[in-house]
Amino acid sequence: MLSKSQKLFERAQSFIPGGVNSPARAFKSVGGTPVFFEKAKGSLITDADGNEYIDFVGSWGPMIMGHAHPAVIKAVQDASFNSTSFGAPTEVEINMAELVQTMVPNVEKVRMVNSGTEACMSAVRVARGYTGKEKIIKFEGNYHGHADTFLIKAGSGALTLGSPSSPGVTEGTAKDTLVADYNNLNSVEKLLEKNKDEVAAIILEPVAGNMGCIPPVEGFLEGLRELCDKHEAVLIFDEVMTGFRLSRGGAQERYDVWADLVTFGKIIGGGLPVGAFGGRKDVMAVVAPEGPVYQAGTLSGNPLAMHAGFTQLSLLERHPEYYVDLEEKSEYLAKRLRAVLNQHGVDHHINRVGSMVSIFFTDAVVTDFNTANQTDQSIFRLFFHEMLKHGIYLPPSPFESWFLATTHTHEMLDKTILAADEALGVVKLKMDS
Ligand SMILES: *Cc1c(COP(=O)(O)O)cnc(C)c1O
Repeated sequence: MLSKSQKLFERAQSFIPGGVNSPARAFKSVGGTPVFFEKAKGSLITDADGNEYIDFVGSWGPMIMGHAHPAVIKAVQDASFNSTSFGAPTEVEINMAELVQTMVPNVEKVRMVNSGTEACMSAVRVARGYTGKEKIIKFEGNYHGHADTFLIKAGSGALTLGSPSSPGVTEGTAKDTLVADYNNLNSVEKLLEKNKDEVAAIILEPVAGNMGCIPPVEGFLEGLRELCDKHEAVLIFDEVMTGFRLSRGGAQERYDVWADLVTFGKIIGGGLPVGAFGGRKDVMAVVAPEGPVYQAGTLSGNPLAMHAGFTQLSLLERHPEYYVDLEEKSEYLAKRLRAVLNQHGVDHHINRVGSMVSIFFTDAVVTDFNTANQTDQSIFRLFFHEMLKHGIYLPPSPFESWFLATTHTHEMLDKTILAADEALGVVKLKMDS
């Protein structure tokens, strides 16, 4: 008999391309039917068939304080009674901008948008407008949303589907996007020399999360900072995933390297559609209506989204102990997963930065796209489905980070480790047969 998720997926495929509104949800890289969800609370999520899972996706990042946080829900409810949108300025937008600056001091001015994609695409336009140059440098396996400029050797869903670039992106656009190797300053220097005075910006995930979690090697971020200063290029940190997650001030605070422009998404919206880009005052001064670089949005700064995001960020701002707790629990999980993988003799490399964790099924040390790609995808596929049977919902791709939330308890983590132990037993049997 078909499950409710299976029936829903069949129906969805008749009306929605591939049955989903974003490719990363489609289970393409793990096979099987995507799970349709009905509700979630904290770190427990319930599917359409009534099965409950411990959730390590957290809506791909926003849910750092768990699903349906009472304060966030109340903020959205309260705001909605006063209308869901004005298309005119409101006070909460100023509160939000001020709070972002308190948490991330180099964001002197910030513009709200509706997604991480929009934030990154706008930041690049601003960098081009500010410098008067056209090319940008990005890194193989980094993901900055689905704007044309970035769909050249991109990570996340684009990587999972094995289509690193996309039809529909013109050659003209592609030629302005230069691609360097992550954690390899040499590859960046070469591009800068070859395209002298043509590079407007370097954009990167300061901790990569869209080819699995990959930390920057020592000196990498500092080196990029120096190269940008030397070549008068704008350094853009895409902190859509890492912002407000790796610390109050994101990766910038964690590594003490400060970009010229920063992009946000995910956590900043508390689960509503929000993105933002901001940074140095003099750079942001080119943004319309202060300057000539056009950028706009009917629903930008939407009151429901602002109240949800402001409430979540305020809690994070007031509770530095949340980050200490996330760090401790994430290390607890990573350490015990390593032990279980060792017991089963399965090749693995676990990367963890703060509450981002990834298992790569390889004995390589994973520092860039090529080493990430050595992960054994067939092992991941089996592991993923076994974990799902055990009530653990992992990102349905070997190239995504797991996210921990303040609502994960040690009991849930122990359950996850036990599930991994049993899952790996089954995986080994299947691999050997
Ligand atoms: C998710 C993500 C984006 C895109 O954000 P959307 O809200 O999905 O458009 C951009 N950059 C990074 C680093 C991301 O993780």
